[in-house]
Amino acid sequence: MIKIEGLYKSFDNLKVLKEINLEINKGEVVVIIGPSGTGKSTLLRCINYLEEPDEGMIDIGDLKVNIEEMTKYDIHKLRRKTSMVFQTYNLFKNKTALENIIEALVVVKKMNKEEAKEIGLNILEQIGLSDKRDSYPSQLSGGQKQRIGIGRAMAMNPEVMLFDEPTSSLDPELVGEVLEVIKSLAKEDMTMLIVTHEMGFANEAADRIVFMDNGRIVEQDTPKKIFNNPQNPRTMQFLETVL
Ligand code: ATP
Ligand code: MG
Repeated sequence: MIKIEGLYKSFDNLKVLKEINLEINKGEVVVIIGPSGTGKSTLLRCINYLEEPDEGMIDIGDLKVNIEEMTKYDIHKLRRKTSMVFQTYNLFKNKTALENIIEALVVVKKMNKEEAKEIGLNILEQIGLSDKRDSYPSQLSGGQKQRIGIGRAMAMNPEVMLFDEPTSSLDPELVGEVLEVIKSLAKEDMTMLIVTHEMGFANEAADRIVFMDNGRIVEQDTPKKIFNNPQNPRTMQFLETVL
C-alpha cells in the first residue's frame, strides 16, 4: 500500500503541489489526468525523490517517512521501491535490449550476471521482445524502445511503477503496443501510478482516475464516474477539452 499525506512542493515562489493526499492499494492502477503545468510530473518525481518535496509523509509498504526527517538511507529505500518510466526512454545506446533491462540489476543490485540474464529473458518474453534481445536501441522502433524502458523498470521488481506519459513521444500507431504491455502488468497485479492523456486507455486500464488541477487533487473516482458523471466543474471543463 502507498500512502501520501500532506505533500507540498514549491519551486521558489511557485507552489506546485498543495497538500496532496493519495492512497493506492496494492495491485491498484491509478491514472492521473489534468491540465498541463498542474503538477502531475512533479508529484511522480516527488514520490521517487527525483524532486525533494518540502513536507509531507510518504509510506510505501514497510517504509514510512516524514519528508522533514528523511535520511539518505530512506531516500535509497524509497528509490528501490519505486521505478519510473519516462516519456523518452533514455536507453543506453551502446547496450543491447537485454543489457539495458538488466543493467540496474547488475550495477545497482549487484546481482550476478547469469541470474540477472534469466530475469531479463523472462521480461523480454513478457513485453513481447524476445527476438530483439541482442538489438541495440538504434535498431528498435519507438514503441519497442519504450517497451524496453518498461522492462527496465520491471526488472527492479518495484512495489510501485510510476509512468509519466509513457506514450506521448510515440507515433500514434505505436501507442497501442506500449499500452498493451502496461495493461498486461495490471493483470499481474502490479501497483501503478500513471500520468497520461490517453483518455481511452485511462478509461480501460484504471481502477481509479485522479483529476489534478493547479497543484491539488480535485476529484477522484472510478473511470465510469469520472468520465460519465464528474462532480467538480473543473473536471467537467477539462474533460470537455480533451474528450
Ligand atoms: P504537463 O502535462 O505539461 O506535463 P505537469 O502537470 O506534469 O504538466 P509539472 O511538470 O509537474 O506539470 O509542472 C508543474 C509546474 O512546476 C509548472 O508550472 C512547471 O513550470 C513548474 N516546474 C516543474 N519543474 C520545475 C523545476 N525544476 N523548476 C522550476 N519550476 C518547475
Ligand atoms: Mg508532466
